[in-house]
Amino acid sequence: MVGLSFLDQNFQETIEHKQKMASFLGLYSKSSSSFLLLCFICFALMKLSNVRAWSKEGHTMTCQIAQSLLSPDAAHAVKMLLPDYVNGDLSALCVWPDQVRHWHKYSWTSPLHFIDTPDKACNFKYERDCHDQHGVEDMCIAGAITNFTTQLSHYRHGSSDRRHNMTEALLFLSHFMGDIHQPMHVGFTTDEGGNTINLRWFRHKSNLHHVWDREIILTAAADYYGKEIDLLEKDIESNFTDGIWSDDVENWRDCSDISACVNKYATESINIACKWGYKGVKSGETLSDDYFNSRLPFVMKRIAQGGVRLAMILNHVFGDSQQEFLAAT
Ligand SMILES: [Zn+2]
Repeated sequence: MVGLSFLDQNFQETIEHKQKMASFLGLYSKSSSSFLLLCFICFALMKLSNVRAWSKEGHTMTCQIAQSLLSPDAAHAVKMLLPDYVNGDLSALCVWPDQVRHWHKYSWTSPLHFIDTPDKACNFKYERDCHDQHGVEDMCIAGAITNFTTQLSHYRHGSSDRRHNMTEALLFLSHFMGDIHQPMHVGFTTDEGGNTINLRWFRHKSNLHHVWDREIILTAAADYYGKEIDLLEKDIESNFTDGIWSDDVENWRDCSDISACVNKYATESINIACKWGYKGVKSGETLSDDYFNSRLPFVMKRIAQGGVRLAMILNHVFGDSQQEFLAAT
């Protein structure tokens, strides 16, 4: 645009940023975005960023587990919202929010992938912790899940609510239900959830955050499942359908108020991060068998819980019981 001064451009960007933020918070009518084109471009051009995100494998497993547990109504709604080219497979797009978070258009979503809690506090308090670096409230994973769940709840009542792109809301919700269950996504502020704790994972360089995002999953797949992530996922599923967690599943999916539930999920994560993520780990050291063997069960369980609870939320919002569930939002 000719004639725009630097200040004007800044102002324009600030306005756009505010509009996006307001849209997220349910306040602003944004025009529908060319979602299919974006997806195509993102597949064609983007290299997946692994910073502050369950790995592709973690998100894919979470979403596959969730999809297998959907009610007929929810399964139908999900199918209708997904673009045709994924053939109804939600997991194919569950990493999409990581792929677009560095794009200008979606840069406002970057703080939604994690929660920074005070160093060593080892607890989560929504009012204290759920904000971005500028202090804007609700800009964290917990706020994002509640907001996108609320947006999706309008789907069932027809097309009257055009403020939101329902497909994007589905993908963001599905992704963030994975992130909130990755313990190091609810980590300490100074080390950015373990990202600045550089160490070695067996023989190669890594960092503590990445160990929980991906290293443990890939080592498990290589050591026990012939590098077949699908087999790892089936093993996780069998643990809660007919295995060590089968008595716990009802408790996992118990939720009558989405806001209270996301606070619980974040609290679980910071507790695991403190007791099993950070504990005994020093920058520069090498983590290997002991750490891997003792932490793998937590990684598997958090993926299972993320999937079970994502299905629970989608079954609520696309079913008959959404009113009470969202009453407090
Ligand atoms: Zn993420």
